[in-house]
Amino acid sequence: MKVSQIMTPGPTEVRENVRMARALATTNPDLDLEFYEFYKETCEKIGLFLKTNNQVRILSGEGILGLEAACASLTETHDRVLVIDNGIFGEGFADFVKMYGGEAVVFKGNRKRKIDIIELEKFLEKDHDFKYATVVHCDTPSGVLNDIDKICPLLKKNGILTVVDSVAAMGGEDIRVDEWKIDVVLGASQKCVSAPVGLTFLSISEDAFKLMQQREKPIASYYCNLLVWKDYYENEWFPYTPPISDIVGLRRAIDNILEDKGVIERHNSIGKATRKAVMEAGLNLYIEEGYSNTVTVIEMPEGIADKELLKHMLEEFNVFIAGSFGYLQGKVIRIGHMGENAKVNKMVYTLLALQNSLKVLGFQCKKDMVEVFLNEI
Ligand SMILES: *Cc1c(COP(=O)(O)O)cnc(C)c1O
Repeated sequence: MKVSQIMTPGPTEVRENVRMARALATTNPDLDLEFYEFYKETCEKIGLFLKTNNQVRILSGEGILGLEAACASLTETHDRVLVIDNGIFGEGFADFVKMYGGEAVVFKGNRKRKIDIIELEKFLEKDHDFKYATVVHCDTPSGVLNDIDKICPLLKKNGILTVVDSVAAMGGEDIRVDEWKIDVVLGASQKCVSAPVGLTFLSISEDAFKLMQQREKPIASYYCNLLVWKDYYENEWFPYTPPISDIVGLRRAIDNILEDKGVIERHNSIGKATRKAVMEAGLNLYIEEGYSNTVTVIEMPEGIADKELLKHMLEEFNVFIAGSFGYLQGKVIRIGHMGENAKVNKMVYTLLALQNSLKVLGFQCKKDMVEVFLNEI
């Protein structure tokens, strides 16, 4: 495999100290009580950047496991679940709800805009009989960022628990779990956290655990069962052998974030400068309102195929950016500036590569993107 600069919206580059941490000698994580302390501390550190006292658990599986585990653990047959949908991951939650016997009621938002709080409020006035609701923080295929700071307290006020997919935002956007009353928020190792793929982590409120404990029927899964993780520390028992090297690497990546005091501001300014460079070049952003600071999604200029552009950038500049999928397939390209990739030097080179590749393929930028970016940053 060729080592390229990966500027995709995850997986992101993994810093050397994280790679080295994964290579350390390890103990038996099921039997060595020191590892229970290490796991607990790592969870608490995740809680620190999520600004929560809620319990955090790290599970062995990619981000999708977090989504499924939340739905599997909370959904009972015939439960009504509100699926807030303004993107591909938003929509996808309905499948998990249905898979575990729930009835998914979809609140559909404009796919080019963040969820409209007033509209949601109006909807809830008429119907708020839901056990929980799902919402995506940053819906990565389109790059829309939803105001979970407004959505989650509103739902909670209506007696609805919230499950937030923040896989593409956690570590790059502010999250205040306790203040915003988020019951379950989940992230993954390979996006803004910049550790290798393979772990998901969730913060789980008391209310969410209570719901799981009060179920009529047990959770129809073991791997997706959050309840089996509840008392691991007291019981000195993990539901399955934790992938210790992955967790040691994750811990280093979390420490990297906690040591980086300006991490959210940096994502903010890089996101803003990137959008400005793109617009001044005469390209169009896909989103109209609610811009993510971790991924920028750009409409393909007329007459240029996304695959050609991506191929040119990779072959001539060794930079990997992404196309998209679903209803956005072939229509947009995506630059991930999250975690280790939210760095000025990397973005400068990526914009240079993009601008030159566009030129070769017949699109002349109206302004120099690198110059606009650097002036704005
Ligand atoms: C990346 C991502 C996931 C995990 O999905 P994969 O396609 O398996 O990487 C889940 N939710 C969101 C919003 C994501 O960006």
